[in-house]
Amino acid sequence: MIKEKLSEKEQEFVASTDKNPSNILPKKLTLDSRLKFRCHPGVRCFTACCHSIKIILTPYDILILRRRLGIPAHEFITEYTEPTYLEKTDMPGVQIKLREDTKGCPFVTPQGCTVYSDRPSACRYYPVGMADFHEGGIENAGEEKFFFIVKEPHCKGFEEDKEWTIREWRADQGVDIRDEMNKEWLRLIMRRKSFGHQASLSEAAKRMFFMASTDLDSFRNFIFNSSFLDTYEMDEQTLAAIREDDEALMHFSFRYLANTLFGAQGMQIRKEKLEAKIKEIKERQDDAVRKAEEEYLELKAERNRMQAEKK
Ligand code: SF4
Ligand code: SF4
Repeated sequence: MIKEKLSEKEQEFVASTDKNPSNILPKKLTLDSRLKFRCHPGVRCFTACCHSIKIILTPYDILILRRRLGIPAHEFITEYTEPTYLEKTDMPGVQIKLREDTKGCPFVTPQGCTVYSDRPSACRYYPVGMADFHEGGIENAGEEKFFFIVKEPHCKGFEEDKEWTIREWRADQGVDIRDEMNKEWLRLIMRRKSFGHQASLSEAAKRMFFMASTDLDSFRNFIFNSSFLDTYEMDEQTLAAIREDDEALMHFSFRYLANTLFGAQGMQIRKEKLEAKIKEIKERQDDAVRKAEEEYLELKAERNRMQAEKK
């Protein structure tokens, strides 16, 4: 069914989601499409969707949750998450670590979500998914943005009487700020996906991506206590912002990752560093040429010697 109604690119997207594709309704929706759904403590399935589920955390989710819990990023990551790969790429990320006994989210109680106002993006979007190929960074994709419904059999929210537009639902769930905060990070993942399996990220690149995406404290330490500032041109205003402001630092980390992983514009290497690097490459090339010349001369001498012996 899905395959008949969605374009090739859309099918690819649907197949790549972590949800069972058969739960995605084969209908493209717009912001004005209508949705009949309500989730509240009175539904029979209350908190069912907070168990046996994969919740990937975006950098903004991590920032907001660890702030809510009042703990540093590394403690949050160790205590509440486990590693995963993002969107079937080799990019490392984290997902919420479920409780071993109940397979429930560590934040769920019979009364509901204990971090509700700061819950992760994935919990807010459910059951309305969004595919945004343009923002995702796929070349020539145009403005291909649409919504779709994930309708799982255990979810009784669809039997409720409340009806709203997708726009109203999204405003109610507060997803617009999440869209904005997650956009650049999602674009990095989509860029990686568009490169395919033929190109692989180096281990150092993966480590940097993981650190910048999950632990802004360590990323800040990297900027201010490594050779970073000797390498990149940074204006005073940006420096002041990222020293104090975690959101500014997060947006900067996306810019830095786009530049270092995918060669995107936006970061300037210092002139003297660039010149030194060019000099180093040139010296390496000169060395290689010198070595090749020496080898050629050795070979030539050897051939002459052999010819002389033959005579
Ligand atoms: S964070 Fe809250 S809403 Fe999300 S899965 Fe956990 S308990 Fe449920
Ligand atoms: S399964 Fe559906 S209705 Fe039930 S708690 Fe989760 S979102 Fe709400």
